[in-house]
Amino acid sequence: MSDLTELRDGMRRFTEERDWARFHDPKSLALALVGEVGEVAELLQWLPADEARKRLTSEPLASRIGEELSDVLLYLVRLADVVEVDLFEAATRKLASSENRFDADEFRSRAPEKS
Ligand SMILES: [Mg+2]
Repeated sequence: MSDLTELRDGMRRFTEERDWARFHDPKSLALALVGEVGEVAELLQWLPADEARKRLTSEPLASRIGEELSDVLLYLVRLADVVEVDLFEAATRKLASSENRFDADEFRSRAPEKS
């Protein structure tokens, strides 16, 4: 069992115990996910990039970013479950596709150009 499967099952249990499945339609979960991504961005907004990197390694920001990233992951796992996507399998496939698309030797130390 993957860690994602454990999280999926935990979210199923959490949802069922509260009778919240009725609220977990794909659109609502996608909006909740975007909201949590916004909370991650909110923690970093207005900080210069170097300052943000420094603050993320100490409190209170280290704990706060962990909480918000967890919210993102949990909503992502729940959304994938509701739309019947095996997130681990899909992400593994996507990573392999990206590895093929962006050859390591060709793209080392340079960002891909927009096409
Ligand atoms: Mg949050």
